[in-house]
Amino acid sequence: MHDHLVSSVDPPTEKSEPAWWFIFTAHMMIVEKEGETISVPFIQDLTNLGLRPVSEWYLGTLSGHHCYCAEVSENISLPAGMVSFGLRYLYGRIQESLHKIAMKASHILEWDSNNRYCGRCRTEMKHAKVMRAKECPGCGFLSFPRISPAIIVLIERENKVLLARVKRFTADLYSVLAGFVEPGETLEEAAKREIEEEVGIRVKNIQYFGSQPWPFPDSLMIGFTAEYESGEIMIDETEISDAGWFDPEQLPTIPGKISIARQLIDWFVDTKMKEKDTVISKKEREYVPHE
Ligand SMILES: [Zn+2]
Repeated sequence: MHDHLVSSVDPPTEKSEPAWWFIFTAHMMIVEKEGETISVPFIQDLTNLGLRPVSEWYLGTLSGHHCYCAEVSENISLPAGMVSFGLRYLYGRIQESLHKIAMKASHILEWDSNNRYCGRCRTEMKHAKVMRAKECPGCGFLSFPRISPAIIVLIERENKVLLARVKRFTADLYSVLAGFVEPGETLEEAAKREIEEEVGIRVKNIQYFGSQPWPFPDSLMIGFTAEYESGEIMIDETEISDAGWFDPEQLPTIPGKISIARQLIDWFVDTKMKEKDTVISKKEREYVPHE
């Protein structure tokens, strides 16, 4: 059995057994809450809760159980014992495998709600049958979920990391730099351009780190590490209020565990601490007198 979603667009003919339901309203997920325990509804059908979907998608299976996502109207009153939370809040409060599917569900529903009508002929779009897409019954136009790639880069200079405070962050957070990829750009070009635009420095040795779906609303974050090459920090004041080189032992407030930004920073801190330990233990060994 897989502990991750086995994606499928081919739902069972009947909803005859309990399934995981990822139900959203106004960008929040509806969950059951009993005391401090939060759980994703595991029910036969959404209608069991007295809810009617504005849109519904079959997602596939998790450990043999079917998974669905649905959007319900913003104006409904939630059934007893149910509340809605944002996905960032739910991270760490529901099982990780379920949270990952919830992120996917949110992305699909957001795309669905922004693509009700054909962009070519304005006919109402329907679910396509054999793929995760919407199809226009009028002209045949296909709309696939939009995924917007964005690069995110940790830049290192002499054991320090470049962190910036981005103006649109609501909290007083410092993070690594990120930006959307433009048409016609490679990921490496996007990384170099964003860094030059935002902090005015040049980097070298750009290395892939990892990636993360980020459905706020539809990004795919592609993480890199890079080394400082030249220039002095000169921030783009429309986007950034402060930026600087930080020692791994003296970091400002950084993003939460849900983000790849945090994974990059944690990786950097761990690597630097290990290097330091190695240097110290080498020194200690040098001072051990020979017997
Ligand atoms: Zn059309």
